[in-house]
Amino acid sequence: MINLDDPKKFRPLVGQAHQVAMNMLRPISRKYDQAEHEYPQELDMLAAMIDGLSDSGASEGAGAAGVRREENDGDKTVKNGANLASVMSIAEMCWGDVGLLLSMPRQGLGNSAIASVANPEQLERFDGVWAGMAITEPGVGSDSANIKTTATLDGDHYVINGEKIYVTSGDRADAIVVWATLDRDLGRAAIKSFVVPKGTPGMRVDRLEHKLGIRASDTATIIFENCRVPAENLLGSPEVDVKQGFAGAMATFDNTRPLVAAMAIGCARASLDLTRDLLEQAGVVVDYDRPAIVQSAAAAKLLQMEADWEGAYLLTLQAAWMADNREPNSLEASMAKAKAGRIGSDITLSCVELAGSVGYSEAELLEKWSRDSKILDIFEGTQQIQQLIVARRVLGLSSAELK
Ligand SMILES: Cc1cc2nc3c(=O)[nH]c(=O)nc-3n(C[C@H](O)[C@H](O)[C@H](O)COP(=O)(O)OP(=O)(O)OC[C@H]3O[C@@H](n4cnc5c(N)ncnc54)[C@H](O)[C@@H]3O)c2cc1C
Repeated sequence: MINLDDPKKFRPLVGQAHQVAMNMLRPISRKYDQAEHEYPQELDMLAAMIDGLSDSGASEGAGAAGVRREENDGDKTVKNGANLASVMSIAEMCWGDVGLLLSMPRQGLGNSAIASVANPEQLERFDGVWAGMAITEPGVGSDSANIKTTATLDGDHYVINGEKIYVTSGDRADAIVVWATLDRDLGRAAIKSFVVPKGTPGMRVDRLEHKLGIRASDTATIIFENCRVPAENLLGSPEVDVKQGFAGAMATFDNTRPLVAAMAIGCARASLDLTRDLLEQAGVVVDYDRPAIVQSAAAAKLLQMEADWEGAYLLTLQAAWMADNREPNSLEASMAKAKAGRIGSDITLSCVELAGSVGYSEAELLEKWSRDSKILDIFEGTQQIQQLIVARRVLGLSSAELK
């Protein structure tokens, strides 16, 4: 029988993440929304705490760095593992603040890329490194198979040339995981990812973006000019397997999309919780045991949003659980990201609407959450791209057949 309860073994982790979100992130949320580009110093202490928990084994996969598809060791037992733990703890942290979660040292999306595709030696070498992820380029967004940044083998180094834009934590991270092509004539199979440590000659941050939301998180344009990295910094295998196509690089997305879905879930949960309290203060009590049709319009709207939220939450847990259990989850990862990204935007904006002028003013964080949430339906593949991937998988069509 399916058990839809949260796994008991993750309750202490989720509880801790909730405490951190409430006591450490919420109090500085507005400060760093207003002080865009200022580094949230408070996160250093928090990151040290999380490192301590990870070292002691007390937190299994408490963040983005925890996602990894373990080798099939023949163990057929069902696992609730690091992927599930990561989505649950990230949702809690984003109940606190999405921008601050994205600014957490050593928990970058580049860390998920490393965790997803690095070999054991690289995993050890890059342990503890805070890594951003650079895929997007001027002229290359959703169509990531068209990457123009090049990596050319020269002796025992690759020489990287190109421009990457919108790199989350691009200024603050210790290293950037850069997607570049070994040979543009070989198409998407030749796209590989490279770990480029901060300070490597030839890599420079050109500028930081001003944004609608997640302002606590820095978003950088990075230029690579004859940037030399050791050949062993190419993540995974250097072989160009044309048959495998884009699968190697795409493996990262199967792990990171559920994480972004979890961010949307956490932010939407925050909006729902606060709106329910505000409605209650205004005399509208939402009764979860009675049909929406017999309740006030505001209560009915909240119930409908709760149902949407639940659907996104369960899809996200499913996608992460499948990764933990070594099941192919590209379809489910995209379904989770599409559903959570959309309901995240819908819910946070509808909560502004339900709370009226209080929702729109800076007296509460509702307006901020509606701004923060929007990016979660854009990066790591937009809403439209997720729907395209889902349609291709369901209909059994290739990317050439359905564009
Ligand atoms: C704050 C922020 C942080 C980011 N962080 C990172 C990061 O860390 N690393 C990184 O590499 N990138 C990052 N990005 C970039 C992000 O991943 C891209 O913006 C995203 O992939 C969309 O690409 P684009 O902006 O070029 O839009 P486009 O690809 O040009 O798309 C524009 C519109 O067209 C739609 N569209 C495109 N193709 C199709 C199609 N085939 N069918 C239907 N509709 C389509 C899209 O859904 C979208 O609505 C970030 C962006 C922002 C704003």
